[in-house]
Amino acid sequence: MSVDVAWAIEWVRRSAQTVAEHRDELVELDRQIGDGDHGENLDRGFRAVVTKLDALEEQPAQIGDVLKLVATTLMSTVGGAAGPLYGTAYLRAAKATAAAELDSAGVVALIEAALDGIVARGKATTGEKTMVDAWSPAAEAAVAAADGGGSPADVLAAAAQAAARGAESTIPIAATKGRASYLGERSVGHLDPGARSTQLLLAEAAAAAGA
Ligand code: ADP
Ligand code: MG
Ligand code: MG
Repeated sequence: MSVDVAWAIEWVRRSAQTVAEHRDELVELDRQIGDGDHGENLDRGFRAVVTKLDALEEQPAQIGDVLKLVATTLMSTVGGAAGPLYGTAYLRAAKATAAAELDSAGVVALIEAALDGIVARGKATTGEKTMVDAWSPAAEAAVAAADGGGSPADVLAAAAQAAARGAESTIPIAATKGRASYLGERSVGHLDPGARSTQLLLAEAAAAAGA
């Protein structure tokens, strides 16, 4: 299946669906090491994105147009740490995807741009128990899959699998960025909510491509 504008729209719709389905789980994860609003914040944001998508009179010409709509909507509706972080991720990803369709290198560029946006905004590195721990291995796996001759869908599948492992990797470590860092060692043993939501979103990116 090609990674084109229809894919981007399908990714966004599936993202809204998975965030709604996992809303309570994300709230609970954030209740354990934060302020318990991550599921609510993202659910509100992606619902607003779908409302805007539904109101579009014609299909966007480029993948970047879809991702820009996500970016601006998340920035204005999500709030907290995740709003600006995901907003910047989708904005950078939008700039990297001014195309009607992506090849494998284009998919790598999308994921790397999203990671770069999150790092530019939040200044976290890997091992700080944040969404970077899911995005960073996702970007690495994407590069490896593309270098190995994988299709765009293969690249998304590799990124999604790496994000899942990356999210799991946040459990045994202590947070040093974001609200969870206030807990210090008491954040050990909990899955980071932002890493979990990243895992969910990238899983849908792959699923939307039929991977
Ligand atoms: P808030 O903490 O403001 O309530 P959310 O609950 O929506 O915001 O999002 C929390 C998530 O944001 C965390 O689980 C973490 O993954 C992510 N996060 C927080 N600070 C940073 C940062 N500096 N860099 C990257 N991700 C971060
Ligand atoms: Mg929170
Ligand atoms: Mg909050």
